Amino acid sequence: MPLTRTTAVGLVGGGAMGAGIAQVALAAGHRVYLHDQRDAALQHAARAIRSGLEKWRDKGKLTAEEATAAENRLHLTSELAELAACGLVMEAIVEDLTQKQALLQALTPHLTDTCIVASNTSSLSIAALASACRHPERFLGIHFFNPAPLMPLVEVVPAVQTQPGLADEVRSLMQAWNKVPVLAKDTPGFIVNRVARPFYGEALRLLEEGIADVPTIDWAMTELGGFRMGPFALMDFIGHDVNYRVTASVFEAFFYDPRYKPSFTQKRLFEAGYWGRKAGRGFYDYA
Ligand code: NAD
Repeated sequence: MPLTRTTAVGLVGGGAMGAGIAQVALAAGHRVYLHDQRDAALQHAARAIRSGLEKWRDKGKLTAEEATAAENRLHLTSELAELAACGLVMEAIVEDLTQKQALLQALTPHLTDTCIVASNTSSLSIAALASACRHPERFLGIHFFNPAPLMPLVEVVPAVQTQPGLADEVRSLMQAWNKVPVLAKDTPGFIVNRVARPFYGEALRLLEEGIADVPTIDWAMTELGGFRMGPFALMDFIGHDVNYRVTASVFEAFFYDPRYKPSFTQKRLFEAGYWGRKAGRGFYDYA
């Protein structure tokens, strides 16, 4: 079945990315089934989606009727079985290969044979994820950026198993969602997260070597370097749970190439639960 506006879209993981992608899909006219293992996450996601759609209505991106209709197309569910209605299911759970593979295996019996399954992983092997599916040929990476409703770029990443033509079909869908899709090869971190590793890594090394402190490095990169966010503010925004795991996964996937070596400073923040904005504390205090 070709991907159209009538395709119901499933999202597993209703955190920052799952909720953001759901908002985009709803605004593009799809019915969306949003699943999370935590009810609190689903309720939080629903509030974020409503507020995001209202912002688009207030800015004139959607009419009041469109915003209400979009919100009414959202179904929150605690049951994976409800995703049987979907023609496209994307996962945006924790960045961990074992957990993602377990989820994909658990999903498989509930999905139709024609369902396209995708991961929003930032760094993990799409081939390894596809291998957990009954139909690896219908699996690929669809990598949105944070915040998904605002960031136009989407990396579309076919695995070696992905059937020819599927990536093009998904690229057309992303264009219909007003995104700018680029095709990327299934390599660690794809394009953006690979280029971004030294941005975070060198900033952390500057800090650890005592060359400058966090606000000074961020100030230099934004005020003088022209970046919209400094590396520490950006890591806090992404979340150290996500950012640390992505660095560790890229480092391992490049056979421990020292260029991608993770930082102890960030590892300790991750271990302490100081995950940045979402935890109220990271390099900066958000309490
Ligand atoms: P998050 O922590 O905000 O949300 C993850 C959600 O998944 C949580 O609500 C959690 O309850 C849920 N979850 C975990 N395991 C689950 C399971 N087995 N079944 C159902 N729900 C489960 O994380 P996020 O920032 O939204 O990141 C999600 C994915 O998107 C990761 O793979 C990450 O690498 C990727 N990503 C993140 C960013 C970013 O900047 N945060 C950007 C692009 C891609």
